Amino acid sequence: MSTESLRIVLVYPDLLSTYGDRGNLLILARRAQQRGMPVEAIEVRSDQPMPTSADIYLIGGGEDGPQALGAQRLLADGGLHRAAAQGAVIFGVCAGYQLLGASFFAKGTQYAGLELLDLRSDRGPSRAVGELAGDIDPRLGLPPLSGFENHGGRTHLGPGVAPLARVTAGIGNDGATEGAWRGKLLGTYSHGPALARNPALADLLLRWATGAHQLPPLDDTWADRLRAERRAAVAARV
Ligand code: GLN
Repeated sequence: MSTESLRIVLVYPDLLSTYGDRGNLLILARRAQQRGMPVEAIEVRSDQPMPTSADIYLIGGGEDGPQALGAQRLLADGGLHRAAAQGAVIFGVCAGYQLLGASFFAKGTQYAGLELLDLRSDRGPSRAVGELAGDIDPRLGLPPLSGFENHGGRTHLGPGVAPLARVTAGIGNDGATEGAWRGKLLGTYSHGPALARNPALADLLLRWATGAHQLPPLDDTWADRLRAERRAAVAARV
């Protein structure tokens, strides 16, 4: 860690905080504090400079206009690139995931992304809305992904990233794969918020940020119940 506290930045909540993605900050902070780690939660609005020395950066979803503006401001600021170069953890959801790639479409126009992940996004034939589930890359050692998606974009991965998961329900990137990761950078289409629905994914980000190989287990009864309930809902629809 770069400081005594775990520093978690919520990137541009004024633009990128759709579908409850702010909850990812609450979950990470809570799970860290329950392990005795002090947390400094920092909300950075789009008119503020991006701090470069935080441990974890969270970028949420957003509608097309705020997504394009957010990407332009992050590119102009450069702070997120410096943080990534220093080994920070970056977790992007939906619009926040797309803008980590080379390019994406918003309101019919192609915009440059941050090029932190080897991927690009275009538009699909229809909007992907509903439950999203998948089997996560076995190298990450996590239980299946559970989430909710709502996006018009489709994402195409280059050789520089690995898919986060193989889709078992929903669309994700393209109906076959969902999300992407490289090093300590990870993106997903999963809202819900993702880390409330996937506590093991939250703990992966905490382990990446702290260098801990293992974290003391927590009581995940409620998250497990939610996951089971959502799994049953998906199964009932098939
Ligand atoms: N605007 C993007 C899309 O529709 C992202 C949407 C979102 O973040 N939920 O693909």
